[in-house]
Amino acid sequence: MPRIYRSTDPAVAIPQCSLFSLVFNGHFESQLPALIDAPTGFAISRGALRAYALQLAWSLKNALCLPRGCTVAIISPNSIVWPVVLLGSMAAGLKVTTINSDCTPSEIFHQLKDSAPYFIFAHSSTIERIEKTFRLMNVADLEGKERIITLGDLPQDPGVPGYRSIRDLLGLEQLACEERFDQSDCHETALICYSSGTTSKPKGVELTHHNISSCIVMVKPRWKHVCPNGTIIGVIPLFHLYGLFALVLGPLYYGAPVVIVPHFDPESFCAYIQRYRATFVPVVPPILVVFANHPAPEKYDLTSLKMLTSAAAPLSGELSMAVRARLLKLGADVTINQAWGLTETSPANTSQSGTEGRLKPSSVGTLLSQVEARIVLQGTESDAPEGASGEIWIRGPHVMKGYLNNPSATRESITEDGWFKTGDIGIIDKDGSISILDRIKELIKYKGFQVPPAELEGILLTHPLIVDAAVIGIWSDDDATEYPRAYVVPRNGLKSLTFPSETDRLAREIEIWIRQKVARHKYLRGGVVLVDSVPKSASGKLLRRQLRDMARQEMKES
Ligand code: AMP
Repeated sequence: MPRIYRSTDPAVAIPQCSLFSLVFNGHFESQLPALIDAPTGFAISRGALRAYALQLAWSLKNALCLPRGCTVAIISPNSIVWPVVLLGSMAAGLKVTTINSDCTPSEIFHQLKDSAPYFIFAHSSTIERIEKTFRLMNVADLEGKERIITLGDLPQDPGVPGYRSIRDLLGLEQLACEERFDQSDCHETALICYSSGTTSKPKGVELTHHNISSCIVMVKPRWKHVCPNGTIIGVIPLFHLYGLFALVLGPLYYGAPVVIVPHFDPESFCAYIQRYRATFVPVVPPILVVFANHPAPEKYDLTSLKMLTSAAAPLSGELSMAVRARLLKLGADVTINQAWGLTETSPANTSQSGTEGRLKPSSVGTLLSQVEARIVLQGTESDAPEGASGEIWIRGPHVMKGYLNNPSATRESITEDGWFKTGDIGIIDKDGSISILDRIKELIKYKGFQVPPAELEGILLTHPLIVDAAVIGIWSDDDATEYPRAYVVPRNGLKSLTFPSETDRLAREIEIWIRQKVARHKYLRGGVVLVDSVPKSASGKLLRRQLRDMARQEMKES
C-alpha cells in the first residue's frame, strides 16, 4: 500500500453544477462591485456582470449559432471585458481556451490548430498577429475576419473597423438562464489552458466544470481572511489559470471586488493599492521584489494591505521575510504566504493559511481539503523513504481530465488510479507542511510564465548556423526568477570561430534572432553560450542537470 498524505482541513461538499452557476450562486447583493478598471475607476457590479454575460451568451447561441460544447478563444491583456467574455461563453455552454496576448503568430498557430476555436475574442492590439496566424493556417481573409470578435479595454470600446465587436453582441437580448451542467454533465470541459506539463511543447489542459468548482470550494477555508470584506488588486495575467482563478472565479464566488490592472508597473501598482484601499494581492515572486527593493512603496499608503499570496514559481524565505519587514516599517502588517499549484490541478494543491506565512516562509503550506499526495522516488512508482524528498504525486477532484488530443501524454502523467505526476520535487514534514525543493520536469518559469525548453530548442535548431541546442533555466536573485539560457553548437564547430569576437557576435545574433520568434517571456535573458557539444546520455537524452551544474559553475566564475 502506498503512503498517502491527506489534508487535515474539513471535507467540503463538491459542487455538481456549472462554474457559472457556482460563482453567481452566492447570497451577495447584485449592486456589489465585481470588477473595477484600475486606471478609470469604472466598475461593473455583480448584477451587471451576470447580465452582460447572459447577453453575450444569447448572441453566441442565437446570432452566431454556436452549439453547446464548441470552443472559443480569448486573446487579450487584462481588462474588465475579459471576464465578461469568459463568463458569457461559459453561460452559452462553450469551452474557452485562453491565449497569452503576447504570443507570436507561430505560437498562436499552435494553440488555434490544437484547440480549433470557432471564434476568437481578440483585443485590438492582437488583430495584426491573428491575421498573420490565419495566413499561416491558409484561412481566407474574409473567413478570418468573420471569425474574429474584437475587444477593447472597456465595454464602451469603439471596436476595430471592418470587424465584429463585442459591443455588437451585447444588449440585444439576454438568456433567461445559463446552460446547465448539472450532475454528470459537470464533467464536461469548461476551460482549455496551455501547459507543457513535464516535457515537450505546450499542451491543452482540459479542465472540467467539476475540476475548477472543486478547487474553488477547497480553497475557501484558506481565503476567509481576505473575503468578503476585502478588495483584491489584479495584476497577474488572466490567461494563466492562476490569474483566472484568483482574480475572476474565486473572488466572484467569495464576493470580493477585483481591481483589474491592465499592465504592471511598480509606481501605478502601489498607487492603485492606496487608491482602492486594497487588502489582498495575488502575486508572483518578482512582484515581491518591488515590495522589497523598489522606491515606489515608500511614496504610497499601503497600510490597507493584509495579505500577499505568492504562487506560480519558487519564493525564497529571504525575499518573503524582507518584504514583510519593509512593509511593517511602512506601517502595513502583511501576511505573506505561498500557494503551490499547476494548471493541471485547477490550479491549487496547497497553501499557507492565517499567520502561518510568518512562521515557515519557505513552505508552500499544507494540502487543501480533499487533496491527497504521495512522495515518490524519482523515476519509480514507489514511495520515497519517510521524511525524504521525492516527486509529488497528487490526487483529487481538481486533477484535469487530460491533455487535449493527446491520450499518450495523459496516460504518462496520470496513473490508472488517478495520481497526477507533478514533476516537482518536494518534502512533507511531520506537520503536513510541504516544501518544493526542485523541478524534475523540463519546464523553466520566467516570472511565473511557462517557458518550455523543448520549444526553444526546436526553434534554435532551425537557425542555419546551429546544429544542436539545449536550453535550461538559471536563477537570478535580482529578479527572483529563472532566465532561459541556451547552449548551442555552431555548425562548423567552435574552432571555426575566433574567440571572443566571433563567438560573442554569434551569441548576440542568436539572442536577437529568437526575439522575432517567441513571446517576450521566452527571450534568452540568461544568454547564449557556444559550446562544442551538449551533454547527452548514451541514448541521446539531454542531460539537463549536468548543464544546470555547468551554468552554476560559470555564474560563480563570472
Ligand atoms: P503552471 O502550470 O504554469 O502554473 O506551472 C506549474 C509549476 O510552477 C509547478 O509545477 C511548479 O514547478 C511551479 N510552481 C508553482 N507554484 C510554486 C511554488 N509556490 N513554489 C515553487 N514552484 C511553484
